[in-house]
Order: sequence, then C-alpha cells, then structure tokens
Amino acid sequence: MYNDIFGNIYDIQKFSVHDGPGIRTDIYLKGCPLSCLWCHSPESQSFTPDLAWLELKCIGCEICGACLNVCPNGAITRGEQTVGLKGEPISYPVVDRSKCDVCLKCAEVCPSKGLFNTLRHVSVEDCMKSVRQDKAFYEKSGGGVTISGGEPISQFEFCLALAKACTEEGFHTALDTTGFAPTEHYLKILPYINLFLFDLKHMDSERSKRLVGVPNELIHENARVLAKNGARFQIRFPIIPRLNDSAENVEATARFCLEIKDAIDVVQILPFHRLGGSKYERLGLKYRMNVNPPDGEAMKRHLSVFTALGLPAQIG
Ligand code: SF4
Ligand code: SF4
Repeated sequence: MYNDIFGNIYDIQKFSVHDGPGIRTDIYLKGCPLSCLWCHSPESQSFTPDLAWLELKCIGCEICGACLNVCPNGAITRGEQTVGLKGEPISYPVVDRSKCDVCLKCAEVCPSKGLFNTLRHVSVEDCMKSVRQDKAFYEKSGGGVTISGGEPISQFEFCLALAKACTEEGFHTALDTTGFAPTEHYLKILPYINLFLFDLKHMDSERSKRLVGVPNELIHENARVLAKNGARFQIRFPIIPRLNDSAENVEATARFCLEIKDAIDVVQILPFHRLGGSKYERLGLKYRMNVNPPDGEAMKRHLSVFTALGLPAQIG
C-alpha cells in the first residue's frame, strides 16, 4: 500500500546528527507556507520544481555544453571563459531566469546533474528503502527518522503515511515542523511521532508576518494542543540578530516555553549562520540576509533567560 502513496521531496540525508537523538535519516519534503528571510534551504520553499545549477558538478561548455542548445526560450547562454582547477580554459552556462519557465529540458540533457530539478516525486516505499538501509545505526545510536521540510505537514497524506510506515517498522520518528498547519493534522499524526522539532521564530504576530510571512497564533495554539495531548518537544529558537533577538522577544519566547514546560525535552537556542547563502545562487535567487551570526556572549545571555526559568535549554 505504501507503493501507492506519493509525495514530493527535495532530499534524503543519511547519518544526520542534528535533527533529533542519535544517527538519523532526514527526509526533506518540498514546499512550505512560510518564507523566512533567513531560510537556509530555499529549495524547500516552493511546492513545484525548481531548476538549480551546481558549479561543482558542471563539466563546462568546452567539454560538454549540452544544455546550450536545448532551451526553447533561449534562456541559456555561454558565460565568460575563466580558468578551471587544472589551469584549463572553462566557461559555464548562464541561465536568464527571467526567460526560464522551468520546463527542465536542460536538466534532462545534462550528463552530470550540473543542472537539475530540486523536486523528486517518490513513494513512501521509496523512502522506506533508504530508511531501512541504516537500521543498524539507529539501533546502536538511539536514532531514527526525521521528517523535515519545508513544512512536511503541507503534504499531509504523504507525511502521515511515512510516519505510520516508520512506526510500524519500529523506527523512532521526529517531525521537524514550523507549527503552521491545521491542528487536526497534528492530532492525527501525533500517535506516530515520538518527538516534535518545533520552531518558535517570533512571539509578536505582526513581526512574525513580516519576518516569516505568516502570523503566529496558529503556531502557538498547535504547540499548546500538542503539549496537552502528550507530545514531546525539542523547541528550536533561531537567534537572528536585529530581527528576533531583542530582550523582550527572548523573554517572551522563554515564557511561552514555560507554559508547556512539562512537554519539553530541550530548548535549542540556535545561532544564525550564513551557510545556506550559496544555495540561493544555485537557484538564481538573491540572498537577502545582511547580518552576522550572534557572538558567543550574546548567545550565553539568551540561554540564561531560559535556564533562569528552570527550562532545559542549550546552545546549538
Ligand atoms: S528549464 Fe529553463 S533554462 Fe532550462 S530549458 Fe527550460 S526554460 Fe530553458
Ligand atoms: S549540460 Fe550540464 S554539465 Fe554540460 S555544460 Fe550544461 S550544466 Fe554543465
């Protein structure tokens, strides 16, 4: 039956150690109703295919150039010649995104996946085949499977079936969620999720709308309802300098955590990083974050607000 339930993912990452306990397989579902300014996975945001280009994989127009002549819209031209890693002359294709309608003909002819579609249409069973390969690692490390995104609950039938399939085979499950999805969906999936990785981004709803594109009332309501119904949480609070790190917002976030304290395993206070910046270039998008990561002293100060309230909290 899991052969018949399909969804769209953009990646499966094995041996992950950051998204729940132990060694995990992370399955990234594509599409998100939020658009966080600091999102480090821009390929996760749209529900439809994206054309991406990766310099590391492209073998260059001199040797290949297969993509140069296939575009029906004339969106691909040969870029300026530069010098490659071995001193050889090399030029790369340049995609004019204003002409591209993501027909993906260029990705189809690319022999090295230099140009590629970020969306993969897969069945639950396809995902489970990857998951099963690392069963021994989960058992040794206390790990399992993390269903992430995007917002995984946006593809609810697929997400639910994936969580059920993992549970039936005895794998620990974590759901990495924005909290912005219908409450009834959270309640339906709750029996199949051992741990919710739940983001709190801004406690002021107007600021939330400006920073992540949606208000926060539903997110907070879902956290409360899940807590009341026995969910376990790993709360994630990303610290984005100047955007959500005011003393007032840090205090309000900690106070909210206090409300659901009994359901929280840990609050992770996560410093902003710029690692996702290069992914924007791959998609022809502009990276808009012009802030530096918070310093160590600031992170300790934020942490102390949580620990002073008796919350189990850590940096990172
Ligand atoms: S995906 Fe875009 S660049 Fe590639 S062939 Fe289609 S229109 Fe052209
Ligand atoms: S077809 Fe692929 S490998 Fe060849 S030049 Fe184009 S992007 Fe590079």
